[in-house]
Amino acid sequence: MKAFKATFDAAFEEDTRGLARAYSPFIGEEVNRFVHIHQGPEDLVAKVKLLRKLSHKVGTCFQRCVGWDALNTLYIVTGKIAEREGRKEYFNRFLEYLKYVQRRDLALAGAMTDVKGVRTLRPSEQPNRDAYVHVVEERADGIVVRGAKANITGVAVVDEVVVMPTRAMTEKDAEYAVSFAIPLDTPGVKVVVGRQLNDARRLEGGEIDGLPYAFNHEGLLILDDVFVPWERVFLYKDWRWASQFVEIFSNYHRQGYAGCKSGLGDVIIGASYGLARRLGIADKPHVQEKLTEMAFLNEAMYSAGLAASWEARKLLRDGGWWVNPMYANITKHLVARFPYEISRLAHDIAGGLLGTAPSEADFRNPELRPLLEKYLQGVPEFPAEERLRLLRLLENTSLSVAYLIESVHGAGSPQAQRISIQRIYDLQRAEAIASRLAGLKAEAPADAKAEPHRPAEAER
Ligand SMILES: Cc1cc2nc3c(=O)[nH]c(=O)nc-3n(C[C@H](O)[C@H](O)[C@H](O)COP(=O)(O)OP(=O)(O)OC[C@H]3O[C@@H](n4cnc5c(N)ncnc54)[C@H](O)[C@@H]3O)c2cc1C
Repeated sequence: MKAFKATFDAAFEEDTRGLARAYSPFIGEEVNRFVHIHQGPEDLVAKVKLLRKLSHKVGTCFQRCVGWDALNTLYIVTGKIAEREGRKEYFNRFLEYLKYVQRRDLALAGAMTDVKGVRTLRPSEQPNRDAYVHVVEERADGIVVRGAKANITGVAVVDEVVVMPTRAMTEKDAEYAVSFAIPLDTPGVKVVVGRQLNDARRLEGGEIDGLPYAFNHEGLLILDDVFVPWERVFLYKDWRWASQFVEIFSNYHRQGYAGCKSGLGDVIIGASYGLARRLGIADKPHVQEKLTEMAFLNEAMYSAGLAASWEARKLLRDGGWWVNPMYANITKHLVARFPYEISRLAHDIAGGLLGTAPSEADFRNPELRPLLEKYLQGVPEFPAEERLRLLRLLENTSLSVAYLIESVHGAGSPQAQRISIQRIYDLQRAEAIASRLAGLKAEAPADAKAEPHRPAEAER
């Protein structure tokens, strides 16, 4: 809850309000950026910066980005359906929903990942027909849906859930090509919250072990024959649009990781440096070298996200600002690797006590305390408790779901980014560039574009 709260507080706190507020042309007033539709590259840059800054405040995932990316995706997808096919009902419904969300600053979960059963089979081929969320009944006033979405961030405490398709579909999968929004307390919705590392420590209280800072959660969202009124349905059996839907959403989300993961990286680098100072090793060349390497890895993730933002493109006639898909994929692919390396270096600097430090209860025990203060102290000017606090912070950030597992799988497993990079990078064009220099007979690229990139599906 504390992490969620930070996203609301950000719009009012002195150091974040500039980043956390934006003017919404849809309701004609300022809104919390977490419900804003990007109006240009500057908004996408502000997203990355806000996420980095918020990570400093909570030290974990603040859980509102998926719903935010879902809003921006729906704006583009429903807008494209209106522009390309003249079907405006989804766009109009979505705009009404957007205004409702913006006026109330609602917290949304974004539920894309189906439980998926056998990974190599399409939704319609699954032995379990409910392995992907699908429509089981069509009524005059709406639809009934069934299925489950996995790993849904923040799902136990949101106001609403936005459900989206998770993969490209064929005509046979039409009943699975559905997107809608529902309040969390809709009948038939069940949430099973997942465990997180050290979650039982939260029950201990205290100032060190009880995780006094924020933490996040994910959960399984079960839709057990849930009724959705038509005004909340934004995609219905439109299987041709499922693939673009996923592409647009996942690229927004891949770009965003530049901010939150570099922000967590700052916490980890800072804790490592603080521990190095308490061990008296901060100025040793190998430690300086490791800290510099950590900063390099961290800033590389951030830089790629900024490139994805500044190189934004417009997918609708009147807006629909989207990230550069190549750089968004590069961002996420770096994020799938670099946090592990940053954590490894942090663990190296911190020393073995990172894994073996005594409990807060022992530290508070009057008999043990003087002994622990004596034996856990490094450089005398720093009390042992400071070292213990930094160790616990480092343990709970550098080994967390938010920093490691989410970095690998969030917004798609690494292979999904490799497939996108392979599709966008134009090998033929690169060959033509090389061939011309090598004196081979080759057509020189006809346009002024510097990057040998093909357009993503959403840009065609
Ligand atoms: C902390 C966390 C938070 C998350 N938050 C959200 C959220 O808020 N909303 C949301 O919708 N999702 C969320 N996700 C889900 C995330 O998007 C998925 O975990 C990710 O897309 C991978 O899907 P999966 O977990 O089902 O893994 P799988 O798809 O099962 O992947 C496991 C392995 O199988 C491989 N694989 C999968 N399919 C195939 C295939 N057909 N052929 C060959 N290899 C294959 C993958 O490459 C990977 O190596 C979150 C995940 C995490 C870890």
